[in-house]
Amino acid sequence: MRLRFDVLTKTKQPERHRYRTTRDRAANVRLFRLAAEVLRAVEASVFYPNPGWQCKECPFRRKCWAWG
Ligand code: SF4
Repeated sequence: MRLRFDVLTKTKQPERHRYRTTRDRAANVRLFRLAAEVLRAVEASVFYPNPGWQCKECPFRRKCWAWG
């Protein structure tokens, strides 16, 4: 599988970078297993915060930070 990431930088002078990569079958199997486990956790209402740069614009921020 061939993948491409198009990244637009949020800098003063925005730039677009294009990165190409490949994944083999084993990597795909691992990804789908991981995704299935995450879905199971969501369906079981499992939640724990994973704070980082993304919190700043997260729509769940208020509830998340009220959680604990
Ligand atoms: S605020 Fe949003 S992004 Fe940050 S930890 Fe909570 S749920 Fe995750």
